[in-house]
Parts: sequence; structure tokens; C-alpha cells
Amino acid sequence: MGLVRDLRLGAYAARVIRDTIEYMTGTERVLRVHSLLEAAYYIVVTPCAECRSGPLEAHAGQLDRTTHPGLLIMPTTCRACGVWCAFRFNTDHVCGEEGWPTDPLGTACEPAGNAPSSPVNRSEEPSEVIDVAGWLLLHTLLQERVSSLGAGALRVAERSARRRLQVQSAACLAEALKFYDPDNDLPPEEAFFTAESRRQFRARPELFARDRIIGLRARLPWSRGGQPAEQ
Ligand SMILES: [Zn+2]
Repeated sequence: MGLVRDLRLGAYAARVIRDTIEYMTGTERVLRVHSLLEAAYYIVVTPCAECRSGPLEAHAGQLDRTTHPGLLIMPTTCRACGVWCAFRFNTDHVCGEEGWPTDPLGTACEPAGNAPSSPVNRSEEPSEVIDVAGWLLLHTLLQERVSSLGAGALRVAERSARRRLQVQSAACLAEALKFYDPDNDLPPEEAFFTAESRRQFRARPELFARDRIIGLRARLPWSRGGQPAEQ
């Protein structure tokens, strides 16, 4: 009887989880991304829908890529309030066998070819999921990681991590710049996806000046061809 009960409970739990995923994801739009790094960055810059403050933790181990070709469902939990949420990503335009970047802002050494060293968006079109404010926030977060490494004599692995973070920072600024018209120093209205982003722009428009972002990017390792420069 104990085994039967356990099996029933297991099946029940599985159904609850499935129904929860369908319910939660059914209320969310499918987010079209250019890379899994862009998807991971999206989770970094998206606040918890419940408490509006906590950062979300992605559970790559529960990643579901089999439900529908090109559809990726990533479960997350809020580190502050613990609320569970899943995001649906359209990965039709993601190249090859990209792995989920488990530490998108991190300095941990990823296996060769893993996402943090992959281009976030090879195309010329701006992101559909992260707006200009989101890319600037990512640049700031990555630079904070660079600062945490310090400026002293670093071990080879730390120098490598530092350089990778700098290249990622430059890539985030390049993504921000994709929203701008060449003849306008401030971003257009459609560069902001949320009320919070628009509020940030109204509060500190100077932070969004195109010339400022170009100046920030010029200080980072980045060649004119759009590829990371060798150092
Ligand atoms: Zn929360």
C-alpha cells in the first residue's frame, strides 16, 4: 500500500508541477532570443514579478527543450521571496549546440565554447527582450565583477576571467547602441520596454546619451570589426 500511495503521490506531484508550468508559462509571452546568453541575461535583468526586488535564479538542470522544437522553458525561483516562475524562449535563431550559461555574469571558468564567450547577438537587429536600460544595467553589473577582481597582480585564470568580463561588457554596450538612430544622441521611445526603464530614463537621461555609451565602449577591449580585440 505504501508503494502505491507513494506512486500516486509522485504522479500527483508531477501533474501539479506540469499544470503549474503550463499555467505560469501560458500567461507569459514567448521571448525570441538570439542566443542562450541573451536569455540568461534577460533573467538577470528581470525582477521578481511577486516582490519586485529579488533576483531570479535559473534552474538549468530542469531546462525543458523537448516540448516543442525551438521552445525552451526555463524555470526560475526568486532568491528573495522564493516564488517560482518559468520563462518561455523561442530559440529558433540560436546557433548550434549552445549550452545554457550557468554563470552569465560570473568569473567562473566555463568550458571552451560555452555561452559566455559566445556572441550574445550576431545580428544587427536590437534585442526583443532586453531594452536599452537592461543592457546598460548588464554593463554595470559586469563592471562590478571586474572591480571585484581587483587591479593587482592576477593569476592567469583571473586575468582570463577579467578579459572575458570586459569583452562581455563591451558586447552589452554594443547591444544598447543598436537601439539608437545615428543622428540622435538619445534613444527613441521604442528602446524602452517597461515603465521602470522609462522612469530611469526620465530620472537620468544623461546616462543614456549615445556619446557616453560609445565612450565607455572605447575603453573596453573591442576591435572595429565587432570582434573581441586581442590583448
Ligand atoms: Zn520575489
